[in-house]
Amino acid sequence: MEINENAYRLGSKRSVIREIFEYGKKRSAEIGVENVFDFSIGNPSVQPPKEISDTIKELLKTEDSVLLHGYTSAQGDFGARKAVSDSINNRFGLSLTADNIYMTCGAAASLAISLKAMLNPGEECVVFAPFFTEYRVFIENAGGKVVVSKPNESDFQIDLNDFKAKINDNTRVVIINSPNNPSGVVYTENTIKRVCEILKEKEKEYGKTIYLIADEPYRELVYDGVNVPYLMNYYDDTVVCYSFSKSLSLPGERIGYIAVNSTMNNAQEVYLAICGAGRLLGYICAPSLFQQVIKRCVDVKVNVEPYKKNRDILYNALTEYGYECVKPDGAFYLFVKALEKDAVKFCEKARCKDILVVPCDDFGVDGYVRIAYCVPTDKIERSLPRFKELFEQYCLS
Ligand code: PLP
Repeated sequence: MEINENAYRLGSKRSVIREIFEYGKKRSAEIGVENVFDFSIGNPSVQPPKEISDTIKELLKTEDSVLLHGYTSAQGDFGARKAVSDSINNRFGLSLTADNIYMTCGAAASLAISLKAMLNPGEECVVFAPFFTEYRVFIENAGGKVVVSKPNESDFQIDLNDFKAKINDNTRVVIINSPNNPSGVVYTENTIKRVCEILKEKEKEYGKTIYLIADEPYRELVYDGVNVPYLMNYYDDTVVCYSFSKSLSLPGERIGYIAVNSTMNNAQEVYLAICGAGRLLGYICAPSLFQQVIKRCVDVKVNVEPYKKNRDILYNALTEYGYECVKPDGAFYLFVKALEKDAVKFCEKARCKDILVVPCDDFGVDGYVRIAYCVPTDKIERSLPRFKELFEQYCLS
């Protein structure tokens, strides 16, 4: 082939989520968007907070086009980075500086850069199933090898024995995503403490650094006051990959950051490797206008009440009909056991009722589907009779 085979393979086969999302758009054009129950993609339906549009309007009044639309430093505008480090320090009692922060085009870029910066070819990265499917793409692009650690299927917390067994002297990175996509589970403080203890023991045993990546686009989307432990407070060798895509409902604006823990032994080296990886991947100068917005709105939060309402309606109805799922504490996904062994076939049957859900085989757990409930509440309500019919169809067959 006269092009890069791997790039061709990835481009010609979309992710399963994107595939269903594209089908949903096509189907909506045929029968009307109101008749398609598209739960495929995590596109927030809640409006960004008013402070965001007010800030944009205010910024647009300035004549300083370089401030709004020009290049910033490769790692991001100093003021935006300082606002981020101050916010982290205030909320989590840390001592980061602007020079621990690298502004990015969302969590996808944060992850791709961090993995490229930390992994040497052939080194292993442990991910906890179920996991965001793009991890595999980013890890393999960095020359790393994906090692999947299985969950406790009763509650989808981490199986600590399995995790311990998956670490060896070739492990370089571990990724934790909590609140989790696709399960909605928030890992408990106890689980996090045990994971970090195991990592410290293993670092000692093998005499090497094992980095922990906290992938946190859903940190702010939690319900009923659930605590999401901040990993830098439990493990020095932590890098946080953050995004404002979900916390401010701005996924199309592509803005996020990487934060390197200042207490890491080689924090400066890691930061420079991140700058280098950003350069290697062409991810420099995150969008300037949105860096300015973040500088002013770093602590603004979206209203999570509509998501909580959707979760409650959907979880209560589906479990009443007989579906099995773990009650999610955060994010906006419901992880439901398919009504047959093959989740792909189950999704096809759901699709016949214009319910679009995603099979989770690529997330590392077979036999489950993901329902993204970040849609208007009336869509959830109108979908319920179809979920009921689908359940009854299986009871009859
Ligand atoms: N990590 C997880 C767990 C996600 O669910 C997503 C997006 O859905 C991302 C990273 C990528 O986020 P972004 O859109 O900010 O690149």
